[in-house]
Amino acid sequence: MSAGAVVVAAGSGRRLGGVPKQFRKLGTVPLLAWSCHALSRHSDISELVVVVPADIAAAPPDWLVGLCDSVVEGGPTRRDSVGLGIADLSGGHGTVLVHDGARPFLSARLIGRVLETCRDCPAIPGLPLTDTVKLVGEGGRVLSTLDRARLRAVQTPQGFPLSLLRELHEQAARDDAEATDDAFLAEKAGIPVRVVDGDPLNLKVTTGADLALAEWLVGSGDLEAAGIEPPGIETS
Ligand code: C5P
Repeated sequence: MSAGAVVVAAGSGRRLGGVPKQFRKLGTVPLLAWSCHALSRHSDISELVVVVPADIAAAPPDWLVGLCDSVVEGGPTRRDSVGLGIADLSGGHGTVLVHDGARPFLSARLIGRVLETCRDCPAIPGLPLTDTVKLVGEGGRVLSTLDRARLRAVQTPQGFPLSLLRELHEQAARDDAEATDDAFLAEKAGIPVRVVDGDPLNLKVTTGADLALAEWLVGSGDLEAAGIEPPGIETS
């Protein structure tokens, strides 16, 4: 069964020099090109929609047009952007992956793990935590220490049956519900979600330090060892 994919990259990011982080260079190409390349070359993904800010959607760069099937304008929140992306998919897909454009290093192995599991129920990659996590109340007072063995830091791509994700987003739009990830909408509806092994290389580039680490990884042999290739595209 074919899968569709949506990459959300419509956040303003922390603009450095006027460029949202997902459009800054990582290696020789824009950061966003890395994950789009990984999804577009995966044999089980037959359609890729990329969601970007309005000014970029109005005049998408050639490299982006070349990497995906459709470029659409995002909304004010991540949830709005995902909703617009999945609405744009031409349909006919059994499943869909939703990925944050801020995570450049997406391996085919991780895509495969999520796709395999999400045929039956929503599947999300997660990593065990190394930090101890505390629940904190007013004035920084520690309320409790969470059981680290049961915690996972969750990543994207998150995979869903497409019809289910469309229903969840339509409901969330009606309720104006907040959601920092898509699995939350399934959890709230009482639908079981399964965690599969995440990938430590699949980091989210949020701060300048993350970008520096990502640059360092591009120069290291770690990406190649994980089968993550730089996109072979021309950008101006
Ligand atoms: O800010 P946050 O961590 O939620 O962003 C996760 C991803 O969602 C980023 O790739 C960002 O570009 C995207 N996003 C979006 N539309 C928004 C806000 C965030 O596509 N309105």
